[in-house]
Amino acid sequence: MSFKHKKKFGQNFLTDQNDVLNRIMEVSDVKEDEHIIEIGPGEGALTALLLEKAKNVTCIEIDTDLEKILTKKYASNPKFNLIMQDVLTVDLKNVLSKGRVVANIPYYITSPIINKIIENRDIISEMFIMVQKEVAERVCSKSGKERSVLTLAVEYYGEAEYLFTIPKAFFTPPPKVDSAFMSIKFYNDRRYEDRISESLFFKYVKAAFSNKRKNIINNLTTLGYSKDFIREKLEKLGISETERAENLTIEQFIDLAEIFEEE
Ligand code: SAM
Repeated sequence: MSFKHKKKFGQNFLTDQNDVLNRIMEVSDVKEDEHIIEIGPGEGALTALLLEKAKNVTCIEIDTDLEKILTKKYASNPKFNLIMQDVLTVDLKNVLSKGRVVANIPYYITSPIINKIIENRDIISEMFIMVQKEVAERVCSKSGKERSVLTLAVEYYGEAEYLFTIPKAFFTPPPKVDSAFMSIKFYNDRRYEDRISESLFFKYVKAAFSNKRKNIINNLTTLGYSKDFIREKLEKLGISETERAENLTIEQFIDLAEIFEEE
């Protein structure tokens, strides 16, 4: 009996149409000494190629109906390791000491997965993931109205890159939206973390984006500062008070948080 895809688990599987799997392998450039984590292997189409290249492949899958299929295909391969569990509850530090993520992830938990990998950036140097096209556009946007708190949340820790678009028709069953393959490479230094703490950085980013139609001076008043105080700080930074948060770079946000926090 063939496998019945479950909507609740975001099961849109990649078939080998139009060479998508090879393109994923090409851009992610898996090396033979690497440990790769694949979140949501599904029936294992990408897993097969990862196993050809990597030293170890650990797959994390929630759907018990897929266990038999994956085990039958790959259990005899000593490189293969399967964890049947919700990825959000897996302690990755127990799984690997160093590696990367390459995956076509379930879209309904895109942000929690990105956040989880960010939290584990000491052991995961880079992630290559398939996400909804709109999400990739937002995360990788360098300026303009697609930028959001999520964009800055990623830029604080690393560099995101939009790699290529995959039309919905390349999946079985096809999802409602097109997809994109993207990467996040974590900085190997603490360039922003050493300048301003995560909580202070997000305090200003969240306030600045709190109302997308409002300009920065109005949004920053939600933190309890007077307009005169904010105006003076923005002037020092060379940022117009009518500017919108979406047009500020990560550097400008770091400078802004620093200057607002100085005594
Ligand atoms: N990688 C496969 C492919 O490209 O054909 C499947 C990708 S499909 C978009 C997402 C996969 O993630 C499914 O196999 C689904 O069962 C699994 N999944 C969904 N929620 C999960 C979770 N919380 N933890 C681990 N896997 C999950």
